[in-house]
Amino acid sequence: MAGVICKFCASEILAPSLSDITFSNKRYSVFFCNRCKIGMTDPEPNNSQLSKLYEVGKYREKKGRRFVPFIEYFIIAFRHFRRRRIELFKKNGSILDIGCGRGLFLHIMKQHGWDVSAVEFDKPTAANVSETFGINCISGHPDLWTFTAASFDVITLNHVLEHVPWPLEMLNKCNSLLKSGGLIVISVPDFSSIQASYGKENWFHLDIPYHLSHFTGDGLMRVIEQHGFEVVKVRRFDLEYSPFGWLQSLLNSAGVKKNLLYSYILDMEWSKRLIKDVSKFYVFIIIFLFIFFAPISLMLSLYESYVKKRGGVTEVFAIKKDTLSDIVGTDDNTKSI
Ligand SMILES: [Zn+2]
Repeated sequence: MAGVICKFCASEILAPSLSDITFSNKRYSVFFCNRCKIGMTDPEPNNSQLSKLYEVGKYREKKGRRFVPFIEYFIIAFRHFRRRRIELFKKNGSILDIGCGRGLFLHIMKQHGWDVSAVEFDKPTAANVSETFGINCISGHPDLWTFTAASFDVITLNHVLEHVPWPLEMLNKCNSLLKSGGLIVISVPDFSSIQASYGKENWFHLDIPYHLSHFTGDGLMRVIEQHGFEVVKVRRFDLEYSPFGWLQSLLNSAGVKKNLLYSYILDMEWSKRLIKDVSKFYVFIIIFLFIFFAPISLMLSLYESYVKKRGGVTEVFAIKKDTLSDIVGTDDNTKSI
């Protein structure tokens, strides 16, 4: 197998860390750069393949929703938690959410007095955000964004940087769009987590071919700091992502049909078709395994995050280096939680 060139440092990576990951009858590998501490999906889907992956009905349904109504209540609560985390740094101002999905988070921010703008890469979803919530939502490569330089107090990328083919251009653009003292919040699945090491190709958050880059916490912090930011806070546990990452990975490793539990909480035609094919006996087994693995997953994710500092997700809060002293509450917030 031929090596790949690291898109972060241009060095050649000769051997894959993971291989034979299949999706829609295509095979993928992950090449990990030991210098950057970031992995890359190979082959990387081209633009037209990416458009197909994210088209309406595959990744999101028409109105942008992804999950069944029961799960929606939790999603709304998690978006409020995210708002509160940001408001520990900035009480109000202008915010840009990149990869905003259906715009629920920004809708909540708007309701709390924030001046909101959005980028969403899927054009129909972006149009839906503008129409549903009255939010300025644009699409496309960072070079095409029409926002004014130095115009935002906060920029968020929630599980987005791992999806984009041009992460470095994205970080440069974020730096130019932030005001002096601006805050950037980036969260990604952590490829160095214990759940990733355990699950390998069965790790739920590996999500190939949707994830093109596979960040570790160290790799993410390093690349953020190389782009003119100073990391002021790191979170390694997220109730929305971490325990479920363990749970679905454990089920995958136990030999259950890959990501079947996830299919039950998705609200899309293809996931409903998948569930229809599952026998009642199989569902009984899943329920049994769920009851067994759910508390274990919660304990494991707390252990990996707080004891081993290798959580399934890393969320980094960072500000522009030259204006570090301007931001609210920087006295004692350089910490890991
Ligand atoms: Zn590299």
